[in-house]
Amino acid sequence: MIADARRSCGHVASGADADPACSEDDVDPIPAAPVTCETCAACCCRLEVWCLTDTGVPGHLTVMDNFGRTLMDRLDDGWCAALDRDTLLCRIYAQRPLVCRELAVGSPECLAERS
Ligand code: SF4
Ligand code: SF4
Repeated sequence: MIADARRSCGHVASGADADPACSEDDVDPIPAAPVTCETCAACCCRLEVWCLTDTGVPGHLTVMDNFGRTLMDRLDDGWCAALDRDTLLCRIYAQRPLVCRELAVGSPECLAERS
């Protein structure tokens, strides 16, 4: 079917009406969208975040689990209690837990959360 063989350049890439001047190599690859927090719905802020060290996280934003470990509280929508729901920015960025500091943009963990 010819319609399926048309490429973005408008030429026909294969089939009886194929244009010999146009091949698969002529089609510009679509650049991958950059991975940035600005294009992400704060996916990693839905993860379980342990407060392993004292970084100054306000106590009212944390909970303690059954094993006595301190975690960031998560609200009913699944996001961390410290996340600003309007801006999707961390409200305690300077005091955020070590785990949050170590999760790098574009890392395997980041990409896994975004997928
Ligand atoms: S670090 Fe990754 S998962 Fe977290 S907000 Fe930024 S892009 Fe999203
Ligand atoms: S402390 Fe900040 S960076 Fe860490 S999960 Fe909560 S909102 Fe996200």
